[in-house]
Amino acid sequence: MSRAYNFCAGPAALPEPVLRQARDEMLDWRGTGMSVMEMSHRSDEFVEIAETAEKDLRELAGISDDYAVLFMQGGASGQFATVPLNLLGENTRVDYVNTGIWSKKAIAEAKRYATVNVAASSEDRGFTTVPDQSEWNTSADAAYLHYTPNETIGGLEYDFVPDSGRVPLVADMSSNILSRPVDVNRFGLIYAGAQKNIGPSGLVVVIIRKDLLGRARPETPTMMNYQVMADNASMYNTPATYSWYLAGLVFKWLKEQGGVDAMEALNYRKSKKLYDYIDASGFYANPIEPRFRSWMNVPFTLADDSLNGAFLKGADERGLLNLEGHRSVGGMRASIYNAMPEAGVDALIDYMAGFVKEHG
Ligand SMILES: *Cc1c(COP(=O)(O)O)cnc(C)c1O
Repeated sequence: MSRAYNFCAGPAALPEPVLRQARDEMLDWRGTGMSVMEMSHRSDEFVEIAETAEKDLRELAGISDDYAVLFMQGGASGQFATVPLNLLGENTRVDYVNTGIWSKKAIAEAKRYATVNVAASSEDRGFTTVPDQSEWNTSADAAYLHYTPNETIGGLEYDFVPDSGRVPLVADMSSNILSRPVDVNRFGLIYAGAQKNIGPSGLVVVIIRKDLLGRARPETPTMMNYQVMADNASMYNTPATYSWYLAGLVFKWLKEQGGVDAMEALNYRKSKKLYDYIDASGFYANPIEPRFRSWMNVPFTLADDSLNGAFLKGADERGLLNLEGHRSVGGMRASIYNAMPEAGVDALIDYMAGFVKEHG
């Protein structure tokens, strides 16, 4: 059996060694005679799996004891409501930066609970850039400042961490967590749906500064209350045990690769290669201001849209899967998260070049 290169934006490719280990442990996890899927979440075995995953994540991302790490459900989209419900406190006002479709979704959901000030937006520039922070209209009394460091659909990534002063900074890192080093201490809260860079879907990781716990609105559903999750080690109810276990295997794999620093070097190389090829091709194009081009999601168009079908068909035949762009953007998108080997990017560039020879 040969594995294809899967460029899907999410759920995304997982590291092959992780899948092999999961396969080997599927029927009998370390002599217990059970699959992890069948274990009680209260069992010593599973508690060890869960605690080890948290410890490894803390080590990889440099998360201090000032922060709680929560393994929740409801996806990143669930956090769009969970964040305001927990962080507003007595306040009603929040700041959001709008740089793409995921920002917009977060803003729309926050509006159900709070007065949202869109402090900056690049919508009028087709979300091809990040507004300079000097132009942001933030408020010193906002409950928090929310932004989306990597816009998965547009392929736009911040190359800086915003300065939010004393206002807690909140980031939706679903599609770029652990892809390069980040100083967690700059943030009040980070959340990330697992299915891009962490593991299977069904899990969302929340990293929250402990002083921000305990402020949830009274009407906050128990399952969305960060304090309740923290007090119960994310096991107030049955967590997504298998996803949590696989996330733990991914963290171990990341450590073996050399951690987030090694990922940074690899991801820089992979994305630079692909953008350099696109720019030089005279056939493919990417509209994002070069400084803000995503290292994780690389959208590109063909010189002639009527060739899209042929491009995708040929790619499929070569085991280069899921390259179709998001329906709202069109064209193609190659998602090249941590688990995408450099050889996958090389194979894609090779195919793209051959396609130009034939159709360009
Ligand atoms: C995928 C994604 C989401 C949505 O994640 P779900 O877990 O499906 O809710 C939100 N934000 C960003 C940046 C994403 O990439």
